[in-house]
Amino acid sequence: MSVTVRVPAKVNVQLAVGAARPDGFHDLANVFLAVGLFDEVTVTPAAGLRITCEGPDAAQVPLDGTNLAARAAVALAERYGRTPDVHIHIAKDIPVAGGMAGGSADGAGALVACDELWGIGASRVELLDICAELGSDVPFSLVGGAALGVGRGEKLTVLETGGDFHWVFAMAERGLSTPAVFREFDRLVAVADSEVPPPVASAGLLDALASGDPDALAVSVSNDLQPAALSLFPALADTLAAGRAAGALTALVSGSGPTTAFLARDAGAARQVAEALAASGTCRSVRVAAGPVPGASVL
Ligand code: ATP
Repeated sequence: MSVTVRVPAKVNVQLAVGAARPDGFHDLANVFLAVGLFDEVTVTPAAGLRITCEGPDAAQVPLDGTNLAARAAVALAERYGRTPDVHIHIAKDIPVAGGMAGGSADGAGALVACDELWGIGASRVELLDICAELGSDVPFSLVGGAALGVGRGEKLTVLETGGDFHWVFAMAERGLSTPAVFREFDRLVAVADSEVPPPVASAGLLDALASGDPDALAVSVSNDLQPAALSLFPALADTLAAGRAAGALTALVSGSGPTTAFLARDAGAARQVAEALAASGTCRSVRVAAGPVPGASVL
């Protein structure tokens, strides 16, 4: 017997970052949109905990206890007094270290899959609690759709959306480490000697999501980590420029990067932007995906 869970990538349509807290984390106002790029996590009973992974980026995925899917299985097993005797297979389509919450997706996917496989029937609140322990982006991978995350990004409020938004994602030649991007954010703040305002969700952005109007969304997206990502990876500016020149309504770094995200007016426009970006020579590969889509779902 096995259970497969499909779980989406995310793009941050707003990522507002506050000053570093004493614990080193940053308060965030994070508006997530789940988009149609998916990992599939399959769990099967086994003699011990084992992880395998397939997909274009599989070689970069750790297959030990640090994998978020393994950590999710262990956390669930510990909470319910059992041993995590399970083979977790990840069919990975979400780019690794791309700022699209791929690891978080696998954590949420493994949690839901093991809950089903082991017949635990944990409540959504309990599952979300375990997700928040695993990482700031993991609760959103469980919930999907669109949501505002505050705190470290893990305290979620579900948001209404008025339609589908069409995106193009450009994958970069190499990854960026999320902690390194936050350190660069702190360094840039120190160099500028500026006050960082408390992070708040933009009312205009929430209205744009609710209206389903891509033009309104395009003028209200923002990412406070973008200057830090560009500072560590200056060539991303060329990718952003290529997408804008190809007719994208807006272009931004996705989360901590280095994946860049381009909003298009409709599915046809997204295909055109994707073709132009693929031909531009400024990125490794290009994907088209629409959102919102549901969070972790048992297949
Ligand atoms: P986020 O958008 O949440 O900041 P990300 O998309 O930038 O994350 P991930 O793909 O989650 O980055 O990977 C970040 C690092 O986490 C990887 O370099 C890898 O070492 C580790 N990792 C742990 N578990 C996984 C997993 N299941 N899939 C991918 N990476 C994982």
